[in-house]
Amino acid sequence: MKKTISIILSAALLCGCALAGCGNSEPAKAKDPIDGIEAKASTDKYRNYYQIFTQSYCDSNGDGVGDFQGIISQLDYLNDGNPAGGDDLGIDALWLTPINPSESYHKYSVEDYYNVDESFGTLEDFDKLVEEAHKRGINIILDLVLNHISYKNPLFLEACEEVRQGKLDGKAQYFEFHKPDYYTSDTQVVEVGDYVCEANFSQTMPEWNLNSEKTREEFKNIAKFWLDRGVDGFRLDAVKYFENKETDGVAFLKWFVDTCREIKPDVYLVGEDWSEDSEIEEFYGSGIDSLFAFRFAQSFGDIVDAINLKKGQSLVKKMATYDGKMSGANDGYINAVFLSNHDQVRIANALESKGLEAEKFAANVYMLMPGNSFTYYGEEIGMTAPNTDSDKYYRLPMVFDSDNLPGITVDGASTVEAPANGGVKQQLADDNSLLNHYRRLITVKLQNPEIARGRITAQQDFGDKEVGAYYIEKDGEKLLVIHNFSSDEAKTLEITADMLPNAAVRADFTGSVKTNHIELKDGKITLPAYSSVILKSAG
Ligand code: CA
Ligand code: CA
Repeated sequence: MKKTISIILSAALLCGCALAGCGNSEPAKAKDPIDGIEAKASTDKYRNYYQIFTQSYCDSNGDGVGDFQGIISQLDYLNDGNPAGGDDLGIDALWLTPINPSESYHKYSVEDYYNVDESFGTLEDFDKLVEEAHKRGINIILDLVLNHISYKNPLFLEACEEVRQGKLDGKAQYFEFHKPDYYTSDTQVVEVGDYVCEANFSQTMPEWNLNSEKTREEFKNIAKFWLDRGVDGFRLDAVKYFENKETDGVAFLKWFVDTCREIKPDVYLVGEDWSEDSEIEEFYGSGIDSLFAFRFAQSFGDIVDAINLKKGQSLVKKMATYDGKMSGANDGYINAVFLSNHDQVRIANALESKGLEAEKFAANVYMLMPGNSFTYYGEEIGMTAPNTDSDKYYRLPMVFDSDNLPGITVDGASTVEAPANGGVKQQLADDNSLLNHYRRLITVKLQNPEIARGRITAQQDFGDKEVGAYYIEKDGEKLLVIHNFSSDEAKTLEITADMLPNAAVRADFTGSVKTNHIELKDGKITLPAYSSVILKSAG
């Protein structure tokens, strides 16, 4: 019965997607291996995340600032709630960068932890966003800044007042106030009276004292405030800086994770620690669900490096090593993989000389890694940064329609750049667009839940440095994922029974997937340049 339903649904999907081709007499298409496989919505913590910089996403009232109502108006694009059909991207979780009141456009300096910035809307608008997202099966996590605060936050101002009067046993205890000689000369501080407060990021962002019982009580209240409103978890900012002279960063993180789980047992927490593996491994000891895998992301990270240098085999080795290390530190860990975020140059810039096919291929590489994928808004349409000197150019307005560019201003810049292949509207109509490639990747992940939930159990060596291949296993299910990192050479590979008995193509990702499918014939398979395939034993 279930099978019949899913076949009907996928027939409906094909019809819906082929809008551009409706009525045309197109040549017969090769059979798509993913047709007829049921795509099931996720109900656990394993999600395809989408990062939104609210200011830059969608402006509902024309004041030049993106807002909650704007996001609500685009929810059906992100996920219409039907995993088997529609013109939606299919993501099932959002990470919103900070939404709290703040004078800074990026809002990482929080002036009130219990409210939203009025330029984004009201708390009621935010509640509506959560409600509408949940209706469609989309979870929402908020960026939570626990390392520092805004120098304009009333609690900090009251603490400063007391410190100036020499009183250090009151509100001062919330923050890292010390005598000037407490810090070494290379520590950034802000001066208040005869004392200084640690401020690693900016004079406008003094730091919380994470060891203080007062601070922890406050943090518990903040977490409860948002989790009670229906938020599904938090992205924790600047985890690296939790550690200082007297604070054990891992112990503090463990306390916060445990506290959140007491409030909401299925809360999802992901931390930002832009560091080497050994430090990330230590922080996984806190029991946190996820920490971003920075080493694979960024313009100089492992994925872009492997694509530029055609080093598929060595990338897969790094992926397998990383998976082994982090699952050793926390066996329930969920890798958090991404290509870029609001602090990094757009991936389309990083792969500029390689073009659209490389962008699609980069998407294959991170989306098919176990764990949760985080897609930065606009990455699915190949948005670019026209200038890489300043962060604001990594945060330019989302382009829904390249014939009708948005009037959003980001930190004083009204720059909008249409992606080379158009906005959402244009790319939805193009079967071979980057956007439709992302839609396919997410569909395949919903058809094969073991991709996100499994572990990399082994590498497969095909004797070719440009081919990266690995097995993902979960609950008796086993997949073989193969990537061809060559930009110009097809690879013919032999698939033997000891790799996978009775292997069959489960899904394929080529540059032009609607007309060109990868087939396994007589034990051999040919992957075009920059293509990927998933094999599974035929059931
Ligand atoms: Ca607005
Ligand atoms: Ca849908």
